[in-house]
Amino acid sequence: MKKILFVFALFGTLACNNSPEENSVNTETPEVASEEKDTIPNFGIVIHGGAGTILKENMSDSLEQEYKSKLEEAVRAGHAVLERGGTSIEAIEQAINIMENSPLFNAGKGAVFTNAGTNELDAAVMDGETLNAGAVAGVTTVKNPIDLAIAVMKNSEHVMMIGEGAETFAEEQGMELVDPEYFFTENRFKSLQRIKDSEKTQLDHDDQKTAFLDPYIKDSKFGTVGAAALDKQGNLAAGTSTGGMTNKRWGRVGDVPVIGAGTYANNKTAAISGTGWGEFFIRGVVAYDISALMEYKGLSLQEAAEEVIQKKNVELGGNGGIIAIDHQGNVAMEFNTAGMYRAKMNRNGELEIGIYGEEE
Ligand code: ASP
Repeated sequence: MKKILFVFALFGTLACNNSPEENSVNTETPEVASEEKDTIPNFGIVIHGGAGTILKENMSDSLEQEYKSKLEEAVRAGHAVLERGGTSIEAIEQAINIMENSPLFNAGKGAVFTNAGTNELDAAVMDGETLNAGAVAGVTTVKNPIDLAIAVMKNSEHVMMIGEGAETFAEEQGMELVDPEYFFTENRFKSLQRIKDSEKTQLDHDDQKTAFLDPYIKDSKFGTVGAAALDKQGNLAAGTSTGGMTNKRWGRVGDVPVIGAGTYANNKTAAISGTGWGEFFIRGVVAYDISALMEYKGLSLQEAAEEVIQKKNVELGGNGGIIAIDHQGNVAMEFNTAGMYRAKMNRNGELEIGIYGEEE
């Protein structure tokens, strides 16, 4: 009987909760004595695997489970780094690598296709202690673009490198390079074909500009990955990695490698990683805007995230979400899309995983 009640209670929680925070599944709550808690320096990590039209009715149970276990694996890996005293940069790298190596997400292995049928990857990292940053755009042979972004930050005097130059640097740095074929996945290729077909249909009806933009909105399962962490030394870091948007062309670069747009970290405020329609994140300088509202207006992380994601981004006509952690370990996971793959883990090892939003 007890078992039945527990299952019912769990089902009730999943079915009835409304806010994304509440809708998350709390999968673990280890006991830590309160005196012991106070001696542990605050630390934590939060990750995302993309925002978009992610609806429970379109998701099979097995796929949902795959996403959840990959998110759990990634957030736990990052958390383990922090727990043993590693840096926030190391933690986000670990977490992002796991998602980059999975075909589930639009980053690394699962990167979406450009209009030309290629995969062009972008990534960025920022260190909240030094405000140092590294970014790469349009790379086609680097297995883990977040590693290259970190190398740009640590081992070069530059902040952003693109295309061939970035790849030469990757080679010099001894990064793992792959044949571009490595990034081929059937699903992503089919998405490109579907968008191209709908583009053709629209060209018969609409003007060219609308035809170009609409497929972006229709294929709104973006899938970028990102992580933000606070380490035991009190330092924040954020990182983001993506294949960009399906059907992108003309060397299009999104918000992810634009510091302040899709990625930002500052020990004074927070570490933030975004996902969504990149053009609007660039125009809204989303990640920096959240930090600026905290720094100059005294808003809390949650207030700033809501203001930017639920108001400013929506008013501009964009969509997407962010995950963020502030210098005290407070976490925000805010999105204006139907869902956002997300997970967080705090210093007590409390894990929370979420996929859907309010309408579920
Ligand atoms: N923001 C990414 C871009 O525009 C897409 C995403 O978040 O999935 O490149």
